[in-house]
Amino acid sequence: MWTDHHPGAALPELFATGGDTVSFAGGLPDLEALPLRTLSSQVSRLMGLGGRLTLQYTTTRVAPSLVPAIRDLMGREGASATSEQLVPTTGSQMGLLAVALGVGAPGDPVLLPTPAYPGAAAAFRTAGMEPRALPEDADGPDPAALYETVRTLRADGRNPRLLYCNPTFRNPTGATIPTPRRRELLAAAADLELLVVEDNPYGLLAFDGSTTPALHALDPERVIYLGTFSKVFAPGLRCGWIAAPEHLAPALRRTAEVMTLSPSALSQATIAAFHTRHGWDDLLDGYRTAYRERCALMADALDAELGPDGPWRFDRPDGGFYLWLRHRDGQDTERLTGPAAAIGVSFVPGSHFGVGREHAGALRLAFSNAPRRRIAEGVCRLAAALAATPAPPARGGDR
Ligand code: PMP
Repeated sequence: MWTDHHPGAALPELFATGGDTVSFAGGLPDLEALPLRTLSSQVSRLMGLGGRLTLQYTTTRVAPSLVPAIRDLMGREGASATSEQLVPTTGSQMGLLAVALGVGAPGDPVLLPTPAYPGAAAAFRTAGMEPRALPEDADGPDPAALYETVRTLRADGRNPRLLYCNPTFRNPTGATIPTPRRRELLAAAADLELLVVEDNPYGLLAFDGSTTPALHALDPERVIYLGTFSKVFAPGLRCGWIAAPEHLAPALRRTAEVMTLSPSALSQATIAAFHTRHGWDDLLDGYRTAYRERCALMADALDAELGPDGPWRFDRPDGGFYLWLRHRDGQDTERLTGPAAAIGVSFVPGSHFGVGREHAGALRLAFSNAPRRRIAEGVCRLAAALAATPAPPARGGDR
């Protein structure tokens, strides 16, 4: 069977939470900030006034009432899109597969700076594409390496046409590509005639509320932007969008139609109604505050438990959901999951975020949904698991 050779994107066994386990594995949002009472009365009004419409099939266009909500979010990072450029999705995971199927071609290499969100490589592989890791330096994907990689592939008769990027508060590292590097990358992509897939679930979750211009804002004709309400509203509504260069939107709309027939009118109407009445500011502030607090609790506990002279290193993120812990000598973190689970803590080993095993010497911690009062305890357990297990070398190391 096809699935025998293609692992899925999710990691359900790592995301399982036992009774006493402190889970740092799943990148789940903290939905405490959602005003559930308000939402429930809005959904009930939607049912009363237009239930037969919101529960009906709909078109493969983003609902006109939702367009202002999307434009408001994208505008905060300097980007914009017309209704013609927008394609509705059930979230960025579907967006990734729609792009891979609708714009990519089976057998094409696709370039990914790694470590990368595993769902991206899984979507590209599902469409028959071949993910290739792209080298990076301290500022992110390295334009010189991009030239080199693409030229080598083309000299070999291969034709990479897509470059995948999660440029702001990246899953799993929390890193953001600075604006000058964004411009350099886009210039290289233009030179090399690559389309850039910008996967941006976390861009508005800077702890201090600051933003970085989206790649789409800097070159709207070259960038296919994947937006989602999963991290700024709620993932359970399964609602997102693609903002594509206009000439690609029809192909993506057709692909999306094959995948889902039509998006959920109810989800779109719920989000649109919320935005019309409340806007995004308060909700975004609530999320940012929650993640800033949790990240500080986790980073302070890691500093205290792992110490400055130990073998583990991390950079304090400025936003998003994740913290990336690297072992100086490349300890294979997959072997640590068992001992960690035995003392009640979970994380995702770095190997999940590579194209091969190039990041096996790291691990991802999600602070986004860990209960505040249990973060220090979870880190204490993690430190015990890391210290108690011998360190067989892994390829990768401190990168
Ligand atoms: N891209 C990235 C970088 C992610 O972290 C995630 C989810 N964690 C997704 C895409 C998919 O999210 P969704 O389908 O809920 O929008």
